[in-house]
Amino acid sequence: MDYLPLFTRINSKTCLLVGGGTVALRKAGALARAGATLRVVAPAISEELKALCGETGGEIAEREYTDTDLDGVMLVIAATDNEQLNQRVSASAQARNILVNVVDQPELCSVILPSIIDRSPLIVAVSSGGRSPVLARLLRAKLESTIPAGYGRLADLLGQFRDKVRARIPDFDRRRDFWEQVLQGPIAELVFAGRRDAAAAMLEDEIGTAKPDPRGEVYLVGAGPGDPDLLTFKALRLMQKADVVLYDRLVANEIVDLCRKDAEKIYVGKARSRHSMPQDDINQLLITLARQGKRVLRLKGGDPFIFGRGGEEIAGLADEKIPFQVVPGITAAAGCASYSGIPLTHRDYAQSVRFVTGHLKDGSMNLPWAELVHTQQTIVFYMGLLGLPVICREMIAHGRSADTPIALIQQGTTPNHRVLVGTLESMPGIIERESVAAPTLIIVGEVVKLREQLAWFENLSPQTL
Ligand code: SAH
Repeated sequence: MDYLPLFTRINSKTCLLVGGGTVALRKAGALARAGATLRVVAPAISEELKALCGETGGEIAEREYTDTDLDGVMLVIAATDNEQLNQRVSASAQARNILVNVVDQPELCSVILPSIIDRSPLIVAVSSGGRSPVLARLLRAKLESTIPAGYGRLADLLGQFRDKVRARIPDFDRRRDFWEQVLQGPIAELVFAGRRDAAAAMLEDEIGTAKPDPRGEVYLVGAGPGDPDLLTFKALRLMQKADVVLYDRLVANEIVDLCRKDAEKIYVGKARSRHSMPQDDINQLLITLARQGKRVLRLKGGDPFIFGRGGEEIAGLADEKIPFQVVPGITAAAGCASYSGIPLTHRDYAQSVRFVTGHLKDGSMNLPWAELVHTQQTIVFYMGLLGLPVICREMIAHGRSADTPIALIQQGTTPNHRVLVGTLESMPGIIERESVAAPTLIIVGEVVKLREQLAWFENLSPQTL
């Protein structure tokens, strides 16, 4: 950031304008609107500028500039086409720590004037750091059309109730929530519709009934399979709102980094058979934090309701009457399949798809194998790496052909995305030879063959067998 934006109170302060033409007049207008007392110095000063200067109770000196003109001045603007003079004004002002702006010469400025949208008391300022004032002006025009005049009236009304709201709701976060709701609700609409009195009455009511205590809530959010671009807008919005974030192993660091910078981040782990925080403790922690009035984000890999134990986490919240929202995410099956060129269904090869857990318990998997071996369906195994030999063996034993294609996708949608393809018969041998890193997803079915035809578009440089 080259410049620090500041809004400066110049009311009744003397501001010097060196120059008497149209550019000087424009600058004088802005200074006068902010209440400055003008001092204008130039050998020739336009009548309009003289009049304006008079209105501010200022002084007019129709002669060459001298350094004593800077006496008692807070800000000076040089609007002349005399480069030497501009330089002199700039040097003298800076030597005396007086703010100086030279029109169109950013290198001579200690302050620059932004393009502004004036909805007083609301002011939006746009600056290109002196690089391209035209660009800043174009951007201002765009913003201008999206900020209705009513915003100024709204800011004015809210300003009048500030102290009252602060007295009623001392907690900062809670107060911010209150104002967010007011700004997005019917009160703002009434102001825009020109019904200021009705809006004020309604705001008065809202303040009277507002609960002063912070009200915590929980967002159970799916973060997708790995690629941060697969987050939803809603996920990102809540990630930037939450005060505290609980995330686990499946959520990539780049995604955690997108959360609000000052949010507290708690790693709750979960590696295969090594739970760094037991599920019950996670459930309890969500409740405890929300009770403290925090906005708690529970960030989960993929989709929270697909092998994510999301149901258990919100059950506890529901029992405690803690408000929560659930935001779906792209589940590993969808992410891995599309980034690998494997459609999960296909008119010719698979009319259904089934998501199954391949988690091993006591060395076996209690699955309805007879249902899983029907042809014309795709089976996706989550958590199946350790159990892969069992999966292949059982599917063949229950009647699925040994040459049925199977894909193992490692760290799908991340830069380490890698796809191993084989058959039910060959895959156990393949993973013995290859070193494979978790998480991995297994897709079984004829659709895997389509990858040969479709994967040319893959842009993640996967290695394939
Ligand atoms: N809720 C998650 C699944 C959690 S279960 C979702 O909807 O995706 C954890 C399993 O998901 C892992 O064992 C693995 O099988 C799968 N998984 C999650 N992310 C993955 C990824 N990027 N690549 C491959 N598999 C993944």
